[in-house]
Amino acid sequence: MDLTKDQKLQKEVLVAGKQPAWHAMEAEQVLQALQVSADAGLTGEEVERRRAQFGANIMTPKKQQSAIMRFLLQFHQPLIYILLAATVITLYLQEYTDAIVIFAVVFVNAIIGYVQESKALDAIDALAKSMTPRAMVLRNGQKQQIDAQELVPGDIVLVQSGDKFPADVRLVHARDLKVDESALTGESVAVEKHDEPMAPDDVLGDRIGMGFSSTVVTYGHGKGVVTATGDLTEVGKIQTSISAAQDLETPLTIKIKEFSSLMLWVILALAAAVFIVEYSRGAPVADTFMVAVALAVGAIPEGLPVAVTIMLALGVSKMAKRKAIIRKLVAVETLGSTNVICSDKTGTLTENQMTVQQLMAGGKLYTVSGLGYRPEGEILEGDVKTELNSNVALEQCLKAGLLCNNSCLKEEEGQWIIEGDPTEGALIVAAQKARIETDKLTAELPRKDTIPFESEYQYMATLHTGPETVIYLKGSVEAMMERCGKMLLPNGDLADLNREELNRQVEQMAAEGLRVLAFAMATAPEAKSDITHDDTRTGMVFLGLQGMIDPPRKEAIEAVKLCQLAGIDVKMITGDHSITATAIAGQIGLTGRKENDKLVALTGKELQQKSDKELETIAEEVAVFARVAPDQKLRLVKALQARNHIVAMTGDGVNDGPALKQANIGIAMGITGTDVAKDASDMVLTDDNFSSIEGAVEEGRGVFDNLTKFIVWTLPTNLGESLVILTAVALGTQLPLQPLHLLWINMTTSVLLGLTLAFEPKEPGIMERPPRPANRPILTFDLIMRTLLVGILLLIAAYGLYLYELNQGATMAQAQTIVTTVFVVLESFYLLNCRSLVRPITRIGVFSNMWVYYGIAAMFFFQALFIYSPFMQSVFDTHPLELGQLLRIFGAGIILSTIITIEKSIRFRLERTKR
Ligand code: ADP
Ligand code: MG
Repeated sequence: MDLTKDQKLQKEVLVAGKQPAWHAMEAEQVLQALQVSADAGLTGEEVERRRAQFGANIMTPKKQQSAIMRFLLQFHQPLIYILLAATVITLYLQEYTDAIVIFAVVFVNAIIGYVQESKALDAIDALAKSMTPRAMVLRNGQKQQIDAQELVPGDIVLVQSGDKFPADVRLVHARDLKVDESALTGESVAVEKHDEPMAPDDVLGDRIGMGFSSTVVTYGHGKGVVTATGDLTEVGKIQTSISAAQDLETPLTIKIKEFSSLMLWVILALAAAVFIVEYSRGAPVADTFMVAVALAVGAIPEGLPVAVTIMLALGVSKMAKRKAIIRKLVAVETLGSTNVICSDKTGTLTENQMTVQQLMAGGKLYTVSGLGYRPEGEILEGDVKTELNSNVALEQCLKAGLLCNNSCLKEEEGQWIIEGDPTEGALIVAAQKARIETDKLTAELPRKDTIPFESEYQYMATLHTGPETVIYLKGSVEAMMERCGKMLLPNGDLADLNREELNRQVEQMAAEGLRVLAFAMATAPEAKSDITHDDTRTGMVFLGLQGMIDPPRKEAIEAVKLCQLAGIDVKMITGDHSITATAIAGQIGLTGRKENDKLVALTGKELQQKSDKELETIAEEVAVFARVAPDQKLRLVKALQARNHIVAMTGDGVNDGPALKQANIGIAMGITGTDVAKDASDMVLTDDNFSSIEGAVEEGRGVFDNLTKFIVWTLPTNLGESLVILTAVALGTQLPLQPLHLLWINMTTSVLLGLTLAFEPKEPGIMERPPRPANRPILTFDLIMRTLLVGILLLIAAYGLYLYELNQGATMAQAQTIVTTVFVVLESFYLLNCRSLVRPITRIGVFSNMWVYYGIAAMFFFQALFIYSPFMQSVFDTHPLELGQLLRIFGAGIILSTIITIEKSIRFRLERTKR
């Protein structure tokens, strides 16, 4: 390609919008066109320049439902239909004030619903955005992690299995690279990628040389040059909404919707019945309509659906404070009923702070002194410091750990840190303690090729050329044993590998909870430049073992205890050795099937031989699953679910996706998790810590409690109101409440009183009761009884005072004002009872939720306006009340509250004796 053509191309490329057929060009050409070297990447200045020109690498979000549409949808609820119908009817009857007020209520309700829903959506979106994708790039010759947003055309990016392509790239190097492009093409079979050019007119799915933004690397690794960012990428062009609209629907809200539809029919039927009764009595049509409307209006819990969503959304932010980011609103609800948590070991239950403590090489055992990543310590044989040249196997074993390694050790502000995998970090530290110099060694034996570590294969291999061409391997003992026939002796000779002896050594190390890695090597033909799994299948020479401690997290031990108290089973699922796993599980305090006082572990191999039915029992009883491959996690989840368990499962790897999706709560690791795992999850832990799962469960239970409290508080109002109307109809008296009064009660109390329950702190001992069975209705028999009781008490108080006051000479306006106030005041007193479903307030702290008192104060203030302000009097036909009347109402409130307190304490005692 001559220069002028090249320059033209550059011009075309760097003017955004026009994209040449990158896939049809040689990788070299693409690099030239984009003016970048594949080995160094762009310079800082060049990045700045291109950022100014191309902007950030973000896709303009697709317009989701428009605001107006979302607002209008607020009216699309069965119960609101009734109110809209009531508006029309009252208009027709020329009851204009009523029509306006009813409609105003519907309108205000829609606004509240809309605002709250938007807030909930924003909160979830913001959380989702706070987890911005990262990308590994090569800039100024340095590998670095950056926000994927910062990418510009020409950037050199590196991807490996589990990553998403952060932009469209032309591959310049691909190693066993397989990519799931279903996000773009719908094709679910992973595509193998190379760096070769294709025909210009090949369709997207055939462009083997390209990696497209948001497609997922399922295997291997690769390097590419960014050809398009943001809206110019292929996904950006078709604008599939990557951030699919957040779903605010959960089983609970669906249940409430169903409940509303049922109520719609009940209310309509009752209203019709009332209409017929009144009409047959010869009342004027207009009046009978108003009675029917009053009934409908009173019976509808307008605030309920909105309140549920608000409370769930509040749960999301509470959980975020405890390092659990909720990706789907359902999770808030499900967490409360979770009864099995399957957790990874390394990094979740343990610190992931690895230190090599024991070495075995050439048949000799060594200990390593020093803690943490500080490379200061000694290799000791017994109490004696060892010289490396005394044991060739030891030297090679440590070198293998250093060379077959993708991580690095750094000192930052006096702190030694690992960039990469802590397991690998520990190996570097061990080698440095033996005075092996990393730089010198890597210069002597530069790396030619790598087989990266994947959980399924349980090993990693690297190819090095120097004086000789050699392959180094590290991985699980099983993986090494399969590949080795010989072992290296201290004097450099080879001997047959003694497998029994080796197993004995491994078990000894593992029994102390050490994570054991094995090492091997082989010489390769000089010209060899790449390696595959076939090259390492046999003929490797065994070098030795390194055993590292990874202490359990203290918080995890506490959290496991809490979970067990709370009736939640904790299981450990790990790729590590079964003896290591049980040792750690014992330290953490997991409980499950035991033999000889020791936890039983089931290995992936044993698991494979079990039928699905057998697995159900085992999955329930056994607490430790070791050497488990990711696809077996899926079977475990299914087995547990077959027994109706609500399962939370953690995962981080690319193959954990299916298990995370299947689990009731899929939990991805925020730090070590791959994009794939995060995408499949319902919740992401920002600190990868098991205790955050426990925290989220606690919050989930709290949210569900508060929801139940709200519902138990709100339903009796509607019941009481309906009963009052029905009684009036049955007795043929004038209505004690007009539709407007009912609306006033429903709207003001649900916002000012009911919602304050959302701020109720978690009850003490919330983690001391068993999980709520997922299929248990919100309203248990006890709670239904309470609802009926309160509804009837409201009827007695309201109707009783109505008749009494009329008898005492009160006017109709006064009597109706009194009845309205009865509801408001009694609801306020009952609210105090509802702060806890079973316990007396004194046990949960009288002042632990001040919002309740602020809410009641505000409610009384508005009620005073309702009664005494002339404006309200004209709108609502109210009339000032006298002190005696007010006192009688408050008396009724105190009586109601006392009765419920007694009822609660009886139930509380009963429940205690039951236990
Ligand atoms: P987990 O994360 O559950 O502890 P892994 O799947 O990470 O388990 O590891 C399983 C086994 O694979 C380990 O016991 C170890 O033998 C081996 N292994 C882990 N990390 C590496 C690595 N970076 N390179 C080679 N082998 C590894
Ligand atoms: Mg791991």
